[in-house]
Amino acid sequence: MHDVVNLAYETIKNESEGKNADYIPYLANVPKDLFGISVCMPSGELITAGDTEYLFGIESVSKVPTAILAMQQYGADKVLEMIGADATGLPFNSILAILMESDHPSTPLVNAGAISACSMVKPLEESTKKWDTIIGFLEELCGCKLSVIEELYKSETDTNYTNRSIAWLLKSYGRIYDDPNVSLDLYTRQCSIGVSAVALSVLAATIANQGVNPVTKERVFDSYISPKITSMMSTVGFYEHTGDWMFTTGAPAKTGVGGGIMAVLPHQFGIAAFAPPIDEAGNSVKAQKAIKYIVDKLQVNIFG
Ligand code: GLU
Repeated sequence: MHDVVNLAYETIKNESEGKNADYIPYLANVPKDLFGISVCMPSGELITAGDTEYLFGIESVSKVPTAILAMQQYGADKVLEMIGADATGLPFNSILAILMESDHPSTPLVNAGAISACSMVKPLEESTKKWDTIIGFLEELCGCKLSVIEELYKSETDTNYTNRSIAWLLKSYGRIYDDPNVSLDLYTRQCSIGVSAVALSVLAATIANQGVNPVTKERVFDSYISPKITSMMSTVGFYEHTGDWMFTTGAPAKTGVGGGIMAVLPHQFGIAAFAPPIDEAGNSVKAQKAIKYIVDKLQVNIFG
């Protein structure tokens, strides 16, 4: 594994396709040459190359932990009923997708369903806030302390016009289970959490390991949820490019416009890669190549 990760890094590090996301001003200014790969094995061993400690915006990768949290709190069937698990085949913030599936927001892994999932989260105790539950759960999945990148949070809050429309449109369909502004704020905050490639690889490995964090050895969620969340990642993890990704690579994965991607190889290991320049669907170009390189070399395509 060490050789494969190093080779992937060396082979891909000088590629220059893609462009930083610029619809969120903070992301446009992240150094574009950052690049890191981290693999977390079931033993908890971490195999890393490049900028794997740099803290970048988790963005839409955060949709995965909150979907798991909703399934843990309500049960997977209830999440299917309240949000859904259908691929949209459309961009991450598509309003058309909501209009087409007006009976439900389709999946917690697009903006609409993710805002809906945030609206469902129950605080752990009377005294705790929903936010503490969301970030606390993500910390357990990643096995480390996390915090919001305040500048990113402000940048997103100032410019999230489309997401505001989504929250209120969903409210009109009865799919926001709390105050829409509060739910949108929780979503914006969770997207602004700073994570490293190492932390995301531990999160991916916890899913691959059926809910037990391989580093802390703690059970974070019920094992039956692993195949549920992995199926969602397989159908919509790359938005409108998901079919192409699964066809070419065969690894359930979730991307974020901050440049991070995490991939889950069930019962095997988790991979995360990070590089800010993204393609037109919002998926990091170098991170896609790095994960594909590793999956191909190790022949771990889940359909293989
Ligand atoms: N916070 C971003 C948004 O809602 C996340 C998008 C993404 O990473 O795909 O626009």
